[in-house]
Amino acid sequence: MQKIIGPISQIITMRDLDLHGAITDDKLEILHDISILIADGKISDIGNLDELKKKNPQAEVENISQNSVLLPGFIDAHTHICFAGSRASDYALRSIGKSYLEIAENGGGIWSSVTKTREESLEKLAELTSSRASRHLSEGVTTIEVKSGYGLNVEQELKILRAIKLAQNSCAANLVPTCLAAHMKPKDFAGSAEDYLKMIADELLPIVAHEGLAKRVDIFVEKTAFSENEAREYLAKAQKLGFEITIHADQFSVCGSKLALEFNAISADHLEVSGDAEITALARSNTVAVALPNSSYGLGIYHMTKARKLLDAGAILAIASDWNPGSAPMGDLLTGAALFGIYEKLSAAEIFSALTFRAAKALNLNDRGRIEKNLLADFQLYPTNDFREILYHQGKLKPFAVYKNGEKI
Ligand SMILES: [Zn+2]
Repeated sequence: MQKIIGPISQIITMRDLDLHGAITDDKLEILHDISILIADGKISDIGNLDELKKKNPQAEVENISQNSVLLPGFIDAHTHICFAGSRASDYALRSIGKSYLEIAENGGGIWSSVTKTREESLEKLAELTSSRASRHLSEGVTTIEVKSGYGLNVEQELKILRAIKLAQNSCAANLVPTCLAAHMKPKDFAGSAEDYLKMIADELLPIVAHEGLAKRVDIFVEKTAFSENEAREYLAKAQKLGFEITIHADQFSVCGSKLALEFNAISADHLEVSGDAEITALARSNTVAVALPNSSYGLGIYHMTKARKLLDAGAILAIASDWNPGSAPMGDLLTGAALFGIYEKLSAAEIFSALTFRAAKALNLNDRGRIEKNLLADFQLYPTNDFREILYHQGKLKPFAVYKNGEKI
């Protein structure tokens, strides 16, 4: 099936932009008064409306009769949206200045999400995930990474990964599952952190690989979770089983990003406290640095990923939502990225790159993230004739139409 959509005031193609480093807005390719031809879910041509109609007389035409800016669909490379329950009580306590420890002692923290998620059925978790992913899709996010990590034993982690797989049936956005069984050592596990990692490496990961439930393995490297030394053996086993590696790194203390480079990880995420040495090392690598500003907003902390420094040093920067019930409940990718951009002094080109083709790199996807022939027809239309309005409205200007694989949502 062929379809022509247009005329569109501006298409921001994101073509021919570097994967690494800083980008100024004059590098953006902006096509004016232009239309797009989609065929079999992919972008087939871009050109003048009348010429596209003449060349493709059989194609259906969807007329756009308003101002419109077309961007590639956003790619959210880091979420935890398969969970049950709310952590509004944690947020209220954090808001009046209670410490992490006090909140945990009040029954909050990751463990409270684990308890609530364990109680929920696979079907209900799939429904919750699909409904959050559908909200994301309506806001222009066409590909969404989803981590497990609120199960923390073999049976419960499998339930969550199977729920993510089931959620895909009722959601048009692509879900990319990641096994984060190494989120923290569960409170009900009797042995040491090493024993827990050994157990999930030996008993869980082979099943995940065998059933094709995820191709990616993540670990939270932090004082309160797992040390670099504890993580090393686990990651080596995961890599041996064929998993891609991604790491929650340098969030509260400098640990994890070096390990990410040691394992040639596909991404190192968070990086709020990375120092100059870590930034330089990341910039020289092909590991994508994923900033998660919404978790700084959700925790009410002032330190954010040093995106400007990372880009100037030559790193690949992606921005993701970290949507989760604890530290990042907002789940709004564009709002988070727009606010982050104004604090970190990022160009629109850098912000949109971080939400599109650079985020695709963090998920090892090379069929999306730009408006280019033969790539997936994943894109979104904003009600304006100037792309700068999108960030100017700091996330309040939402797309009026979203297309996934050429289908209008
Ligand atoms: Zn996370």
